[in-house]
Amino acid sequence: TAVSNRYPTAQLRALDAAHHFHPFTDTKALNAEGSRIITAAKGVWLTDSDGNRILDGMAGLWCAQVGHGREEIADAVHRQMTELSYYNTFFKTTHPPVIALAEKLAEVSPPQFNRTFFCSSGSEANDTVFRMVRFYWDQMGKPEKKIIIGRWNGYHGSTLAGTSLGGMKAMHEQGDLPVPGVRHIPQPYWFGEGGDMSPAEFGIWAARELEKAIDHHGEDKVAAFIAEPIQGAGGVIIPPETYWPEVQRILKERDILFVADEVICGFGRLGTWFGSEYYGIEPDLMPIAKGLTSGYLPMGGVLVSDKVAAGVIDKGGEFYHGYTYSGHPACAAAALANLEIIQREKLVERVANDIGPYLQARWRALGEHPLVGEARMTGLVGALELVPEKGNRKKAFPNTGTVGTMCRDISFRNGLIMRAVRDSMIISPPLVITHGEADQLVAIAK
Ligand code: PLP
Repeated sequence: TAVSNRYPTAQLRALDAAHHFHPFTDTKALNAEGSRIITAAKGVWLTDSDGNRILDGMAGLWCAQVGHGREEIADAVHRQMTELSYYNTFFKTTHPPVIALAEKLAEVSPPQFNRTFFCSSGSEANDTVFRMVRFYWDQMGKPEKKIIIGRWNGYHGSTLAGTSLGGMKAMHEQGDLPVPGVRHIPQPYWFGEGGDMSPAEFGIWAARELEKAIDHHGEDKVAAFIAEPIQGAGGVIIPPETYWPEVQRILKERDILFVADEVICGFGRLGTWFGSEYYGIEPDLMPIAKGLTSGYLPMGGVLVSDKVAAGVIDKGGEFYHGYTYSGHPACAAAALANLEIIQREKLVERVANDIGPYLQARWRALGEHPLVGEARMTGLVGALELVPEKGNRKKAFPNTGTVGTMCRDISFRNGLIMRAVRDSMIISPPLVITHGEADQLVAIAK
């Protein structure tokens, strides 16, 4: 039987409980309380099966840059599906939408990027990165360069490579990960881990942990460093201003590839096309997903710099890597229509100059709240650090996520989706959120 949203909510919940194994969810616990069923969405507003309207403060999972329900994207996908629903890009074939998308990505990305390898998600993008950096060093005659350095509490997806490159210890514990050849350094999380250092001192300290790690293993053994410009899933960790310039210095002095994971920060989230541009850093590879299609269809990719292309394409033979859905025509059509909206509506500029500063000012004012230790936001991504006592950064809450989960549920009941990361509350709304909707978001969060 087809499940439709005309079924009574109770029946939908019962079917969900019986047959659906949810990702990143304790399904047993969920079934005790019943899942929330989202039935429709338009702009920044979701509708649930009880008819409630909820402000989507997380843009789905950090992805709905242009908002929900844009008919223009649906029409583009429909047209593409009736013309060419599927063909692959293996074995010397291609098709117009993937060509147009690859060209568009070369146009909007920094000048060193002129080529994209396509896949279906951020996790697949990072699996591609994992294999591509090793393939690169093989072609460059340095096959001993194998180690990839990531950061504790970074997130790069949930496949084997994604989980391994990421630094989520709870994920590593399920399945004896990371895979060999991956190391992790501390994250630049001043509020939680800065100790007695000033943010500026801590930024330098955290960057030099990278220097120490590279020098410990030897530059001739290290292939790449991977990091999100701002860690998203780790809790919107906005690094101190001293961090990225120091990391860039360290990498420039050494022969190490720099992978900026732009899955969240890309496509305008920080008020620049890519997060690395916001920080003035120069990656060699950029995994992308989410905002590439605003989530309308699944698509990811890896933007490959000319430097890496010179190894993996000019020197390399066939790279034995690819996915059935690499460059899927309907997904490429969705991405193109989405990027055209971002350009036409000047959403990147809007985040930099208009809605970004507007929401940031109101969000930071939440720092006055008696339970908020820090209210931080860059572009349209922000966090509230919940503390029991103002004036110090101690998390006397056990930091198990109990308080965060409670606040998240209260927020939902009041009509706003925020995400809880341990005991902090996160937002990452669609880039089209209006001033009035931003006011509503802050009023509910308060
Ligand atoms: N990289 C980053 C920075 C992410 O935030 C995510 C997902 O949240 C991923 C990779 C994985 O993307 P996906 O869930 O599409 O596999």
